[in-house]
Amino acid sequence: MANQPDILIIGAGIAGLAAGCYAQMNGYRTQIFELNALPGGLCTAWQRQGYTFDGCIHYLFGSGPGQPFHSLWQELGAVQNRQFINHEEFMRVVEPGGKTLIAYCNPDRLEQHLLSLSAADSQPIKAFCDGVRTFKNFDLSLFQQKPKALMGPGDWAGLVKRLLPFARSLGKWGMLPLTEFVSQFQDPFLRRALPQVFALPDLPSMVAMTLLAYLDNGNAGFPLGASLDFARAIEHRYRSLGGEIHYSSPVEQILVENGQAVGVRLDSGAEQLAQRVISACDGRSTLFKMLGGQYLNRQIQELYDGHMPIYSQLQVSLGLNRDCSDQPPWVTYLLDEPVAIADIPRCEISVNHYCFDPSLAPPGKSVMMILMTTTYDYWHRTYGSSLAGSLDDGEVIQEAHRLIDRLELFYPGLKADIEQISVTTPLTYERHTGNWQGSSNGWVLNKDTLPQMVKGLPKTLPGLRRFYMVGQWTELGGGLPIVAMSGRNTVQQICHEDRRRFQVSIPN
Ligand SMILES: Cc1cc2nc3c(=O)[nH]c(=O)nc-3n(C[C@H](O)[C@H](O)[C@H](O)COP(=O)(O)OP(=O)(O)OC[C@H]3O[C@@H](n4cnc5c(N)ncnc54)[C@H](O)[C@@H]3O)c2cc1C
Repeated sequence: MANQPDILIIGAGIAGLAAGCYAQMNGYRTQIFELNALPGGLCTAWQRQGYTFDGCIHYLFGSGPGQPFHSLWQELGAVQNRQFINHEEFMRVVEPGGKTLIAYCNPDRLEQHLLSLSAADSQPIKAFCDGVRTFKNFDLSLFQQKPKALMGPGDWAGLVKRLLPFARSLGKWGMLPLTEFVSQFQDPFLRRALPQVFALPDLPSMVAMTLLAYLDNGNAGFPLGASLDFARAIEHRYRSLGGEIHYSSPVEQILVENGQAVGVRLDSGAEQLAQRVISACDGRSTLFKMLGGQYLNRQIQELYDGHMPIYSQLQVSLGLNRDCSDQPPWVTYLLDEPVAIADIPRCEISVNHYCFDPSLAPPGKSVMMILMTTTYDYWHRTYGSSLAGSLDDGEVIQEAHRLIDRLELFYPGLKADIEQISVTTPLTYERHTGNWQGSSNGWVLNKDTLPQMVKGLPKTLPGLRRFYMVGQWTELGGGLPIVAMSGRNTVQQICHEDRRRFQVSIPN
């Protein structure tokens, strides 16, 4: 019992690593049990013959010194000595005739450009760009500073005071889906192109505006060295704080005695006891497998009854024997003729390259990637468990080849230059991280799910003491800074329960 850790954490994704770091900072002895042989969970990258394919970060909120979420990453040792790339334009959307929307991050430049495309839409263009200007000063981390249960009247008053200047904008843009907003545009190209910039067309307009605003502030950069390197920096921080990680150690069951979590049983049958357990892995497996569905209430049952939209993705990564550095980094091509991918006719293909990070491909070569949302059901129905067990679903996927055939039209000669193909589907994410339906962000944040976000998702369970949940299944919409904050907040909660003052430190 002397070696029994204070806290066991299930999962070494960013939420689990963050929870581990903050617990160690506060004097708790912790151990993490991780399914895989490496840290990061969804925040990952993989190598193929000299190419590094990034599986996660396109923009990291908190990359900019002095900006929202930056101190979080400093505390986790993730941004020290790390270079970030900030682009002037987020994405181009190109229609078959060549007409191009350039989503400049700077709202003044964006406004000028949009007006040059459609002067008749000056009113909604100005409204949109004013929204971006407003959210440049908005601190998204405000909502995450402390667990709600610990907020006293002073905290609430402070929050209200800081939100007040944004009240009108939040009311106007917070619930308005982008697709609904663009219906005001007279120009059919802008109506079609603008929502494509943000991948999820029914995203609340405020989220799209905040993304451009943070990009313009230099607070949503791409970390050079890719996502796994980023995750490894947090793993390093955790270990240097004295934390212990057990890789290739899947947890099968959470042990409970007298209504209290007391440890875990691994797939191997080994058991480890502890004072507390934090689950930082898939919410559904935690609740229904590891805890046998015994600690639920109505809200939790509704969340997992299958009606909530889940964010699943298809990614085709290419290693190319060509230099794409003279091309814009991210382009969405609108198609005349839809291409059927995973049973859905797709009218657009979104492609980005990573030539801005020379560490990801050999000199003169490039990594290119196609990313699109998809449904888990299709892949499960079509391929079941027939795909090999690695992160990479290889060349067997016909859909990837259909996409590549289309890309050839935009990049003549591309097929002949392909040296490596790596395809990841929701089945890959499911296998690699255990996430329900291979979700890459938990549930989708949209107008319908926003009320759940405002209400807050459960982080403790009815009838079960000394047990906590963190990560993307406890924070609607997921995302790296949000899941890291969830780990931080839970440790704050634990410190409060133990009457310890929550403390943080920043490594050099
Ligand atoms: C393609 C893609 C692009 C993205 N782009 C961005 C972006 O640009 N910016 C951004 O902020 N976010 C982005 N995200 C979202 C972000 O990656 C996730 O929201 C976040 O990484 C989730 O972290 P997590 O720790 O909650 O969960 P996970 O990363 O899923 O971690 C859970 C961990 O638990 C482990 N585990 C599961 N079951 C068990 C078990 N039984 N026993 C032990 N361990 C177990 C898993 O192996 C995993 O390591 C992207 C995600 C994807 C997939």
